[in-house]
Order: sequence, then structure tokens, then C-alpha cells
Amino acid sequence: MARFPILMYHKIGVPPEGAKVPHHYVSVDRFKRQICAILRFGFKTTHVSTHEPDVKKPICLTFDDGYQNFQLAASVLKDNGQTGTVFVVTDLLGRDNRWDVETGDVPEPLLSADEVLNLHRAGFEFGSHTVTHARLAQIDQNLAKQEIVRSKEFLDSLLGSDTQVFCYPYGSHDSDVRLMVQKAGYKWACSVEKGWNDGQTDPFRLKRVNVRRDTSTAVLFWKLWSQARRRTQID
Ligand SMILES: [Zn+2]
Repeated sequence: MARFPILMYHKIGVPPEGAKVPHHYVSVDRFKRQICAILRFGFKTTHVSTHEPDVKKPICLTFDDGYQNFQLAASVLKDNGQTGTVFVVTDLLGRDNRWDVETGDVPEPLLSADEVLNLHRAGFEFGSHTVTHARLAQIDQNLAKQEIVRSKEFLDSLLGSDTQVFCYPYGSHDSDVRLMVQKAGYKWACSVEKGWNDGQTDPFRLKRVNVRRDTSTAVLFWKLWSQARRRTQID
């Protein structure tokens, strides 16, 4: 397996007043500049599930939670002939991020099932981020299993394909959770641990490089290279 980084994005756009985690919003302009820079550097974007084939410098772009503002990223990616992987919360499609709203955050609309289907047809990859954005390592194991299995069944049937990628909400996983994800038929799962991935990486514990609102192109490359060398890692 080639060594490859996975970038982690959440929301695209400007944080609205009251947003609890403004650094989760990356502006469209900044996103455009980041895409142009990684392409100039010779990277090519691939899906998380297909990062192995002949691409010389693969990079995966992941978008957690499936916000409707992913559409802004999707048009930048389409314009540049690139792709990405989106992790959706299957019971909340077309609704909002109530797991955040419950803790006082502002609501953000999530992609609807129709939008997911259209984006999938346009070449974007979709993975599961559970049914309800559950903290898997901290809930009852039967519930955790349902979150993992039911979200896959839903996406498999919506998209007419075998959903291969999973992403742990809140980065919450342990060995039991990882085994459940594997047994459910996923092939890969993204964590929030930092670094690049290679042949030694547990496929159910893929590492990612976090991209924040203040991640300029220079900082992005600094993060990429420092994490590639597994030196001191910053968030
Ligand atoms: Zn999430």
C-alpha cells in the first residue's frame, strides 16, 4: 500500500453567529486554494476505498457529517476533476446536526437522500457515520452494532453498492467497535488520529490530517510534511 494522507474537513463556508466550533468551517476560497496547491504538488485525489491503484501520489479528502455545504466543495472538486469521500448520518439525511444542536450549537442542514444519490452518481464516495452520530465506544454494544449495521444497509440500498468506508463519530472507537465495523462488511474506517497511512496502518484505524478554518495552504503543507515524518503533531 502506498503511503497516503487523508484530509479531514467538516463544513465549507463562513461560520454563522453562535457557531460553537468556528474552526470547523473552511471558506470556499481557502478550500479552492488548498485543492489547487495539492494538485500543483502532484497529488491526485482518490476515494478512501480505492486509494491503492496506480495513483502515484494519492490523497483522500474526507468530509464528516454530510453537511449540505459539501455542495460548495463538490463544485470546486468537479471543476478540478477531483473527488472526495463524505460520511453521512443516515437517520438525519435532509435534517440537521441535532447531536450538536442538543449541546447548544447552531443547526446546519445535512444533505438529503436525493442529494447523496446525485452526488454519488457524480462520482463522490459515501461512507457511514452511523445512524444517529453515536459515540460508539460509550454506548451499549447492541446499540453500537445497530448503528454500524443499519447505516450500512441503508446506504447499500440507497446507492445500490457495497458501502466500504466507515467513520467513527467523535473518533470514538475501541477494539470491540473496530471488530463490529469489520464484521459488518466495511473495509476501511477513519479515526481522528493524526498522521499518514501506509502498509502498517490498521485499515479500521486510518489516520487523518485535520483541516481547520485557519489552515492556510502553507500550514496545510507544514502539517502534511510534519505528520508524514511522524514528528510532533498539532491539531
Ligand atoms: Zn461527526
